[in-house]
Amino acid sequence: MSSTRIHKVAVIPGDGIGIEVTAAAIEALKTVQAKVGGFELVFTEYNYGSRLYKETGSYTPKDWLDTLSRHDAIFFGAVGDPDVPDHISLWQLILPMRYMLDFFQYVNVRPSIVFEGIDPPTRCATPAGGELDWVMLRENTEGEYAGQGGRSHVGHPHEVATEVAIFSRIGIERFLRFAFETAQNRPRKLLTVVTKSNAQRYGLVLWDEVAAEVAKDFPDVDAMTVRMVSKPQTLDVIAATNLHADILSDLAAALSGSIGIAPSSNLDPTRKAPSLFEPVHGAAFDIMGKDLANPVAAIWSASEMLRWLGEDRAADLVYEAMKSSLRAGKKTRDLGGTLSTTEATKAICDLIQEIE
Ligand code: ATP
Ligand code: MG
Repeated sequence: MSSTRIHKVAVIPGDGIGIEVTAAAIEALKTVQAKVGGFELVFTEYNYGSRLYKETGSYTPKDWLDTLSRHDAIFFGAVGDPDVPDHISLWQLILPMRYMLDFFQYVNVRPSIVFEGIDPPTRCATPAGGELDWVMLRENTEGEYAGQGGRSHVGHPHEVATEVAIFSRIGIERFLRFAFETAQNRPRKLLTVVTKSNAQRYGLVLWDEVAAEVAKDFPDVDAMTVRMVSKPQTLDVIAATNLHADILSDLAAALSGSIGIAPSSNLDPTRKAPSLFEPVHGAAFDIMGKDLANPVAAIWSASEMLRWLGEDRAADLVYEAMKSSLRAGKKTRDLGGTLSTTEATKAICDLIQEIE
């Protein structure tokens, strides 16, 4: 008797183009599932997002985290609304998912590659002669976005505000271990830990110290700490704090051609909580509903989800189809092409069926 591997996936399309690109990703996932076989993705869709907020005052219903925690993975589109300040969806929806039920998605993974067929705004060659090929790892639960601080003398000319970055040895160490493992599994085995410890006295100094300690357990990884990124072509895996990696990964996405191709994974490496996969871009109201959104970021994120679920062959197929499609010039407008979301998605799904 053959047994099918079942993966329960919570799908949160959200708002704006989040809805369009999530549909594209699900189509690619269903195509690869039918082709490869041996596993089944059971999708359950949830309507969390700005419409729910406008109706009920909350981005999510009751017990939503319990509901989500019963899945093996979460696929997320994007949330946001022109009439609702971003911090509301951040604090009501995005951050609680990241801190789900005491288990943390403490690593945010953001690969950037210059694919054949894409003309990036700036060319960045690697020493090996290839193009830029980075994995940016962002510490996802502490640092500068810990929400600690306060304001005094509010409204007074001498008002003072503090925003305190929190760094814990446990938080840094579990994150950097994942970073070393990631580097160990790549051909170049090169890890760059970015800090700014020359200008600080405590937090990032602890980062440098923990990095040096963890490095001893990974003698085969070439690890260095740079105080700022100065030579992009010498980079492979980059690990940085919440704030620094937030900025650096947006830059990396732009350098690789368009934010419309940048994927991301929010991982709980302990696997106690479901990990979350999403395109880096937002709800993009300027192009929503026009069939213009680039589906590549969402489809690449779906490939990363398959890999996390252990479906390597399916993950490879989706990734290769996406790459070949770009190489063949099947591009949306953000990459200088003419294809609609629907056409670009169909091109990738056709290739999933064709590639051996
Ligand atoms: P965030 O929601 O993270 O704050 P944002 O709202 O500032 O981000 P996005 O929604 O990501 O920004 O959009 C930024 C710009 O990039 C917009 O002009 C948008 O049209 C474009 N863009 C974003 N995603 C895509 C995509 N998938 N395809 C094409 N263009 C995109
Ligand atoms: Mg936005």
